[in-house]
Amino acid sequence: MEKDMAADCIFCKIARGEVPAKKVFEDDMVVAFHDINPAAPVHVVIVPKAHIPSVNEAGLDNAAGFGRVFAAAARIARDLGVDRKGYRIVTNTGKDAGQLVMHVHFHLMAGREFGWPPG
Ligand code: AMP
Ligand code: ZN
Repeated sequence: MEKDMAADCIFCKIARGEVPAKKVFEDDMVVAFHDINPAAPVHVVIVPKAHIPSVNEAGLDNAAGFGRVFAAAARIARDLGVDRKGYRIVTNTGKDAGQLVMHVHFHLMAGREFGWPPG
C-alpha cells in the first residue's frame, strides 16, 4: 500500500530523479528544490526522502528524516544568503492548512517580510 502511494507521489518521483526539479540540496535522506510556484523571492521545498504523508505520521521511527530536514534548512538558508535577514519555515498538515502534496515537506521562504499570524 505505502509502496504504491510512493510510486505515484510527485515528491518521491523528484527524490528518485524521475521528475526534474531545481535542486538546491540533496543527501541520502533529504532533497530540497525550488518551489514550482513560488510565494516569496526565495521559496524552497525541503523533503525527507522517505514517503511520510504528513506530520500526523511523524514518530520515533522516522524522526531522523525530520531532524535532517532542519540541518538541511540551516545550510540552505546560509547558501542562499538569507540566514541573517530571516526566513520562515512552514509545514501545512491536512485540509484546513492547505496541504496539497501528501508527502511531508517544509517550505523555506525568504526575501520579503511575512505577516503574523499567517493567513
Ligand atoms: P502544500 O500546499 O504545502 O502541500 O505545498 C505543496 C507545494 O509543492 C506547492 O507550493 C507547490 O507549488 C509545490 N510543488 C508541487 N509540485 C511541484 C514540483 N513538481 N516541483 C516543485 N514544487 C512543486
Ligand atoms: Zn512520497
